[in-house]
Amino acid sequence: MRPAEIHYLKYRPLYEEAIKTFVCEHCIDHGADGVCHSKDPQSCAVFRYLKDLVEIAFELHERKVEPYAQAVRQRLCLTCKNSSADGEKCGVRECLDCALDRYLPLVLEAIEKVQSTLAASKN
Ligand code: SF4
Ligand code: SF4
Repeated sequence: MRPAEIHYLKYRPLYEEAIKTFVCEHCIDHGADGVCHSKDPQSCAVFRYLKDLVEIAFELHERKVEPYAQAVRQRLCLTCKNSSADGEKCGVRECLDCALDRYLPLVLEAIEKVQSTLAASKN
């Protein structure tokens, strides 16, 4: 198992909590009833791909939105059932119904927050 996978498995609850705080609370699909009303037919891509999103951030040398977004497109959109075979086109993204695409900077912020908290606790 790769270090990034081991890391995710160990700290998964922290990442899930951070996503709820940093992303869900600002998401237009987060209902007043506290329930997610995602219009993504495959379910919210942030949680669908959380493991990969954490691993990509863990492995990136430079945690900036642009290279992160590029890696997400290359690695995740290509495998997502909502995208065309080459991963280039996505009707869900075009309709602004992909929460991952809408909130990518917030996703990265949530992941960074967990990683910096963990790093600080080791010092
Ligand atoms: S669509 Fe995703 S990010 Fe938005 S509230 Fe639902 S689970 Fe959270
Ligand atoms: S942008 Fe489209 S292909 Fe990429 S994760 Fe979102 S729904 Fe899937």
